[in-house]
Amino acid sequence: MRNSKNKKLVIILLGPPGSGKGTQAKLLAKKFKLEYLGSGDTLRQRRKKGDFTGKKLIKVMTRGELVPSFVISKLLTDKLEKLKNLSKISGFILDGWTRILTEAELIDESLDWYEWQKNVKVILINISSRESFNRLTKRRICKDCGRLIPWVGEFKKLKRCDKCGGSLISRADDKPKAIKKRLEEFKKETKPVIDYYKKQGRLIKINGKQSIKDVFKDILKVLRK
Ligand SMILES: [Zn+2]
Repeated sequence: MRNSKNKKLVIILLGPPGSGKGTQAKLLAKKFKLEYLGSGDTLRQRRKKGDFTGKKLIKVMTRGELVPSFVISKLLTDKLEKLKNLSKISGFILDGWTRILTEAELIDESLDWYEWQKNVKVILINISSRESFNRLTKRRICKDCGRLIPWVGEFKKLKRCDKCGGSLISRADDKPKAIKKRLEEFKKETKPVIDYYKKQGRLIKINGKQSIKDVFKDILKVLRK
């Protein structure tokens, strides 16, 4: 890839719940040999330390409250500090670190500080709230092998599990009320983040209402530009 020859690639991935952001992050990490930095994984790791913050994270996250930005920022800068020691790294993907505007601004400061700012791509996998809602409420799981069947593209037509033929049931934790709340939060908190990148002319919008393969293709196209 032309632009990664001398400039390391940093991808900031945005998208509403159900957009398939995590799946795309993994595909991108594999394709370009990028480190994957997910806020979810990092927080789960941090919780395991039995110190004050570890214990408090368990409490706060169980209640479904937002972890404060200074904690998020500290976790991320610790990661970025470590990445500086890896000379052979070709870049990294940031997934889930920009829930609110403050965090987007802090990330810009951190990327400046650690001198990663030369080739930063901000990618939004865009789907409507109706599509999010449908994907989160209608996705299914195989009763026999546990395979998660997303409500997207060709998977919608499946009557039985495509891996083992088991019967499909809807996921018990995907309750419409909780999902509505998550989507409202996304709208309220993350829209300003999207506007922030848009105003700076940095936002790359990808149509997320396509198959996983086609979303990935579109992302590759914009990265080659
Ligand atoms: Zn199955």
